[in-house]
Amino acid sequence: MSIRTDYHMHTPRCKHAAGPMEAYIERGIALGLEEIGFSDHNPLPGGRGASVRMDEDELDDYVADVLRLRERYRGDIMVRLGLEMDYVADIEDYLGEQAARHPWDYIIGSVHYLDPQCQQGAWHREYPGGPVALYAAYFACMRRMVVTGFYDFVAHFDLPKRSGHPPTEEVEPLIEETLQAILGAGVGIEINTSGFRHGDLNEAYPGPAVVQRAIEMGIPLSVNSDSHAPDQVGTAFTETSELLRDLGCERLARYEGRQREFYPLMTSVG
Ligand SMILES: [Zn+2]
Ligand SMILES: [Zn+2]
Repeated sequence: MSIRTDYHMHTPRCKHAAGPMEAYIERGIALGLEEIGFSDHNPLPGGRGASVRMDEDELDDYVADVLRLRERYRGDIMVRLGLEMDYVADIEDYLGEQAARHPWDYIIGSVHYLDPQCQQGAWHREYPGGPVALYAAYFACMRRMVVTGFYDFVAHFDLPKRSGHPPTEEVEPLIEETLQAILGAGVGIEINTSGFRHGDLNEAYPGPAVVQRAIEMGIPLSVNSDSHAPDQVGTAFTETSELLRDLGCERLARYEGRQREFYPLMTSVG
């Protein structure tokens, strides 16, 4: 497999993922990955989104667990310390402190919510004003997120397509504007293969057209499974590396201590 890292793993602390952390790591070793990274859903203040994330008093234990497992598996695989940190516009100070609090290897920026109280999900089928308004609100939030400096790469770029409304032609200028903002901010994008596990979507987040544009623009890319169970590690990595090769992608990003490096995406012959 030419993709060497999978940086998007959850743990039971987020209340909607299953299996011990060791099982994710061992699956990564079995797949031949060089690096596996945990990036569980971050705590938020005031009980926002509390049913799908760790509690505030669990963050330090989460970090300690990842660092302990890094030592335990050293020599077999590099275990990276990440966080999937939801962007919520009115708590930037809180998020900035979270980003500075631990020796993260990377922080993944997610827009799951479109309102401060975290009630309006970006994947909900119903949105006031319809699907284009949903995409507009979502991408506006993402453009604010990437200029904070708190984030290394963006999660599941076109998540609203999970609502059953794929991006239409009217959404294309919003996508372009957002890709330009990401490029300008020096932030990367993940190709999140959980889309292959979501109903009949049958493509990653983002889909091939956006991936192609991101490659043309030189936006740093990584491929991640967004695993919520150990057997999801490396979801569709073989197909994705073939797609990337077909689209002319020559390198992928890896992260350590919030620094980015690139490694060549090897092309297999024949
Ligand atoms: Zn999750
Ligand atoms: Zn995730």
